[in-house]
Amino acid sequence: VFITFEGGEGAGKTTHIRFLAEKLRARGREVVCLREPGGTDIGEKLRAIVLDPANKVMADETELLVYEAARAQIVAEVIRPALARGAVVLCDRFADSTIAYQVCGRGLPRAFVEQANAFACQGIMPDRTILLVTGGSARKGLARATHRLGADRLEQAGEEFHTRVNEAFLELAEAHPERIRVVRSAEQKAKTAERVFRELADLFPWMNDV
Ligand code: C5P
Ligand code: MG
Repeated sequence: VFITFEGGEGAGKTTHIRFLAEKLRARGREVVCLREPGGTDIGEKLRAIVLDPANKVMADETELLVYEAARAQIVAEVIRPALARGAVVLCDRFADSTIAYQVCGRGLPRAFVEQANAFACQGIMPDRTILLVTGGSARKGLARATHRLGADRLEQAGEEFHTRVNEAFLELAEAHPERIRVVRSAEQKAKTAERVFRELADLFPWMNDV
């Protein structure tokens, strides 16, 4: 089973992947947790390139191809073999992020990016995608992420950029309601985690047992 987590900066993807991984492991499932870009030796090197604040002049086209290169590698090296042996794969960001950031954020042509995604994914698609949405403006999540990580090249793109990205994620969810489930952050993390579990109950029938 392949599950991806999407959402803007500071939406809590990492936290909720951890909660879900714990729950699945407690039931004896093998769980592979990944992040994009990254998750392989090559992918982590590509991540360092794309997130390096010193690379101020990276062209949008270059950025796209670096993300797709990292994705092709993680699919071939980690995700496909893990799914083949029956593991549950949880990935922090995947192809939907590329539509939201590079198409709707940066303005690259959608048809080409969709083809590039398909090429990098080699037929591997998430069975379910959890779109984490925080209340309030893009500024809040952005502030949280920036505070934690330090502003990187991408977070510097500004609030308007991130508002566009957040809207793009919601439009993707509307277009693919079966696969992409919107989960709004609750006041307490445990409550949000329950909402995540509920959106996966058809994939893991024991999920809602107390
Ligand atoms: O939230 P996370 O740490 O995964 O994001 C890393 C950075 O990569 C973020 O600043 C995000 O804006 C950026 N990103 C991007 N395009 C993607 C995926 C991530 O610009 N396709
Ligand atoms: Mg994160």
